Amino acid sequence: MELTDHRRNRWAQNVHGQFYVDQRCLYCDLCRTLAPTIFKRNEEREFSYVGRQPKTDKEVTQTYKAAFYCPQEAIHDDGLEFDWDAIPPDDCHNAT
Ligand code: SF4
Repeated sequence: MELTDHRRNRWAQNVHGQFYVDQRCLYCDLCRTLAPTIFKRNEEREFSYVGRQPKTDKEVTQTYKAAFYCPQEAIHDDGLEFDWDAIPPDDCHNAT
């Protein structure tokens, strides 16, 4: 399987699962407004990430809405297609 950049460039802080945020995030706060139980923020480095995968239909809808309106197209929903443990995030972007 060929990896696309957004998979490698995901934030290491995303919890494993269907949805994840990549490093194009601008920290605009929109996703956290639309899906506050799903998206969390790293205040120190100023980015958003998936802190919890959606469980309810309402949360799934909110998360898709956040992905649709994200100005950077930084939210992805293909996280179930591969093994996260086998695909490490790009360390140079995830260094703390
Ligand atoms: S909506 Fe997109 S750009 Fe804005 S904080 Fe969320 S992931 Fe980042």
